[in-house]
Amino acid sequence: MEILQAVASTLVPPLCAACGRACRAEAVVCTRCARRLGSTEPLLGSGPPGLDKAWSSAPYEGVARDLVAALKFRRLLPVADLMADRIHWLAPAHMLSGTVVPVPAAGSRLRRRGFDPAGELAAALAERLEAPLATCLVRAGAGRQVGRRRAERIGHPPRIQAVGAAPRSTLLIDDVLTTGATLTACARALRAAGASRVVAITFARRL
Ligand SMILES: [Zn+2]
Repeated sequence: MEILQAVASTLVPPLCAACGRACRAEAVVCTRCARRLGSTEPLLGSGPPGLDKAWSSAPYEGVARDLVAALKFRRLLPVADLMADRIHWLAPAHMLSGTVVPVPAAGSRLRRRGFDPAGELAAALAERLEAPLATCLVRAGAGRQVGRRRAERIGHPPRIQAVGAAPRSTLLIDDVLTTGATLTACARALRAAGASRVVAITFARRL
């Protein structure tokens, strides 16, 4: 089996998760994409309402955007490791304390894909930080969304609930921060369940 895999890897060279060009074995992205991602600046701010701080490793564009898509739609798990490495290396150490909590995937989306990008990223980051991981948030009232028209659903922030008590200090993790409505809903649920500090960390942030 190992021989077959070795033969297969010579016949089919590994491809860059961002641009799809051939890249060296064991690499997730090619040197060009690695250099491009390396030249982007992290973003730090007070973030959406309800958060103490929000930090993102890169703007949601270029290679960062391609990697978010690779994790979400092509389920390339090594991409979650690359994202977690970048966050681990670049985020200020004082921001990376607390219990890691993934933003919960919408039930219907999770069922369709059978895959949860925020959950994978949170697990990879918790491993690097040697921090506890708590999947203590769930999407609530999904059934009520079904009857709504799409435009109405977009206007409503997701309903999110904590399951049991929340950790006092939490690191809320998502792959990408877009409008911030989801992070705000998560922060409110965490605080209602006892959290006193909620810091959001995302791989990318839409500008
Ligand atoms: Zn590339």
